[in-house]
Amino acid sequence: MNILVINCGSSSLKYQLLDMSNETVLAVGICDRIGIEGSKIKHKPQGKKAITIEGPMANHKDAVSYVLDALVSTEYGVIKTMDEIKAIGHRIVHGGEFFSGSTIITDEVIKAVEECSDLAPLHNPANLIGIDIFKQLMPNIPMVGVFDTAFHQTMPDKAYLYGISYEYYKKYKLRRYGFHGTSHKYVAYRTAEFLGKNIEDLKIVVCHLGNGASICAVDGGKSVDTSMGFTPLEGLLMGTRSGDIDPAIIQFLANKEGISLDQVIDLLNKKSGILGLSLYSSDFRDIEDAIADGHSQAKLAMDVFEYRVAKYIGSYAASMNGIDAVVFTAGLGENNGDMRANVCKYLTYLGVEIDEELNKCRSIERDFSTPNAKVKSLVIPTNEELMIARETLKLV
Ligand code: AMP
Repeated sequence: MNILVINCGSSSLKYQLLDMSNETVLAVGICDRIGIEGSKIKHKPQGKKAITIEGPMANHKDAVSYVLDALVSTEYGVIKTMDEIKAIGHRIVHGGEFFSGSTIITDEVIKAVEECSDLAPLHNPANLIGIDIFKQLMPNIPMVGVFDTAFHQTMPDKAYLYGISYEYYKKYKLRRYGFHGTSHKYVAYRTAEFLGKNIEDLKIVVCHLGNGASICAVDGGKSVDTSMGFTPLEGLLMGTRSGDIDPAIIQFLANKEGISLDQVIDLLNKKSGILGLSLYSSDFRDIEDAIADGHSQAKLAMDVFEYRVAKYIGSYAASMNGIDAVVFTAGLGENNGDMRANVCKYLTYLGVEIDEELNKCRSIERDFSTPNAKVKSLVIPTNEELMIARETLKLV
């Protein structure tokens, strides 16, 4: 059964077509710069060379036409007709408190996702556009919504409540939601499989460290705490996001710089984090190269990043009263062994002990702990698309 996975952003649309009989990727691609000059589709069919086609995409509907044309193309397509697509899985960022799991998309579901748009104004409306287009184009194909927030709905109230009036929780559902849930779930379950253990018996800390970064405490297969909060701005230092700060800084900066609250939030989202501290780049590869060249400010940014990752892991060891495994994933987590080693150095008190040689790996599944380590250290590459396709298959 072929399942199309769609991740619709405000100016991009990522897709993957998977054959779920053997979980292989038939094609993967992205439409970029939708609604902006220079839009293009990059399409990689299985076993063939990747192609890039430039062309006007005034809106997401145009982009979807490019995707479907690419999939059925005689030259670089992977299926003969659209009928070979049996279901569509949509990534949806915010499901609020409505969704604690994936769901078949119905009109009621669409309404609930619309209601959550307030909580994710950049993401949910774009996700809804994708759903609407496919509903029109392929009305008889079942569609499933897979939410970034759903996995974290198992958090207890003591983990998701902020220390502000409970009235605001009641009035506005102001609370921690957490994100990257699809990735955290995939990695936690894959970790259990990899270790040959039952997920119910494991306390795992998943470190999803990419351009956006978050950490999740997974106890017995359930998320019990996570570092991102009401929005994806809270928690770790990220490429351009500040992560945790004293909230009073917002007013202080607005007054001192003579800028609006919106501008301060924009600054915290887009000009802070690794970019802000290094005064150099938001890309961890640039930072890695700069550190190798002796760039002290890049080193400082990375020190702050690693320290904060370690602090969160320590706090989740407290939340779960111990941990069995620390798992690194996403662009940086899967590829940067120095960062992993530096984080693990803070954790020897927990029984983390790593094999430096085994840690020299990129984007492969590996246990890089020593045989005597009480806590396992692993790299498990994430695969959100496969997880979305699996959830879709399960429901249709
Ligand atoms: P993601 O958001 O998971 O795509 O991760 C993106 C981040 O991971 C970027 O900051 C990249 O610089 C970093 N990254 C990706 N590949 C590598 C690599 N091979 N080595 C180090 N960092 C990487």
